[in-house]
Amino acid sequence: MIRIKCPFCGERDHSEFTYGGDASIVYPALDASAEEWHDAVFLRENIRGMQSETWHHVNGCRMWLVVQRDTVTHEIRSVRPAHEATAKLFAASEEEVA
Ligand SMILES: [Zn+2]
Repeated sequence: MIRIKCPFCGERDHSEFTYGGDASIVYPALDASAEEWHDAVFLRENIRGMQSETWHHVNGCRMWLVVQRDTVTHEIRSVRPAHEATAKLFAASEEEVA
């Protein structure tokens, strides 16, 4: 069982989330060749170890998160909002609480 500590909702079972894929992929420009798009969409590394992944808290706050997870042990090293503007708002709200 994987437990993900959502920055907005707290620790939740992974069944509340949908896996979004490898967060380290950089997609090509919209006018890039079909081959570049093919490679970006279909060719994936099968990482053994720590991987950066996107997860959608679909049965919670509905935010997209970036999770650093070990694919062997399922240890989660970090969780943060996926979108920069949301991450900044989240960081600012954390400072207000502290
Ligand atoms: Zn959440």
